[in-house]
Amino acid sequence: MEDRKSNLLYDLAGVFLPRRCAGCDQALMRYERSICSDCVDDLPRLRSHDDPDNKVEQVFRGRLRLHAASAFLQFTKDGMVQHMLHRLKYRGDPAVGLELGRRMAEEVMHSTRFADVDVLLAVPLHRRKEKQRGYNQAQVLVDGMREAWPLRAVDTGLLRVVHTSTQTKRGRLARWGNVKAAFQLADPDALKDAHVLLVDDVVTTGATLESCALALANVPGIRISVLTCACA
Ligand SMILES: [Zn+2]
Repeated sequence: MEDRKSNLLYDLAGVFLPRRCAGCDQALMRYERSICSDCVDDLPRLRSHDDPDNKVEQVFRGRLRLHAASAFLQFTKDGMVQHMLHRLKYRGDPAVGLELGRRMAEEVMHSTRFADVDVLLAVPLHRRKEKQRGYNQAQVLVDGMREAWPLRAVDTGLLRVVHTSTQTKRGRLARWGNVKAAFQLADPDALKDAHVLLVDDVVTTGATLESCALALANVPGIRISVLTCACA
């Protein structure tokens, strides 16, 4: 029910926003969802989900024990992917996130290393940021993924951002993503023996994903994988 309600909100947002492609800004055809057919054909797909030496694997090598790590698209400055993620994060357009999530899942669910994922878990956003934006972009990607790949849903509050005193001291300028171990798992039993896929919009240094994975690492029998929409 909760899922249906949030999807309805995304749909409503789509009604009031101009129907323009999130990649190239051309007008969309009625049947196109957020991204025009030309841009869908031109998506810079990395297609390296089954490569244990892909770019995202290299980001985490020696830092974390992951089952698998991968990204859907190549991020380039001023490129199509940056435009799409900008629209998702800063222009209040979650519909493009749903569409990217769906396409990302359609690809990843057929790859060998990710095929047995049990649970999709969005990297949480600081509560203040989520309130400002109205949604967590990583959760929107997960919601889109689940349209194509109906995996077990977990409570979005399962993984929480911990508000530490050092963070408060750093004040508004704090880049909370830099704070180590800033996440806490509310119910370890919910992920026991599961293959959990941590999902985020983009991976750069990997610090945020690393903190999340550390918060999950002690769950008995867990396997942790990482997937981002884009990789810089
Ligand atoms: Zn386009």
